[in-house]
Amino acid sequence: MTDGPLPSTMEEALAAPPVGFTCPRCGSAAEARSYGPCQRCRDELRSFFVGTARDVEVREYEPKMNVTPNAVALKDD
Ligand SMILES: [Zn+2]
Repeated sequence: MTDGPLPSTMEEALAAPPVGFTCPRCGSAAEARSYGPCQRCRDELRSFFVGTARDVEVREYEPKMNVTPNAVALKDD
């Protein structure tokens, strides 16, 4: 489903001017050198994955969180 031939090299792809297309995610007009989610959707997707990674990290550290309040309380005394 392409309008023209795909660039065969990375240099060709980078040299290609931005093309207008409809964002496959939000459906709004986008402009980029390659077809895909628009810049806004990319930012949203990035923050989504970063948020997911952070969420997992927090869950992994939860056992340690139970220890920290006691240590802080002892320091305050
Ligand atoms: Zn979009």
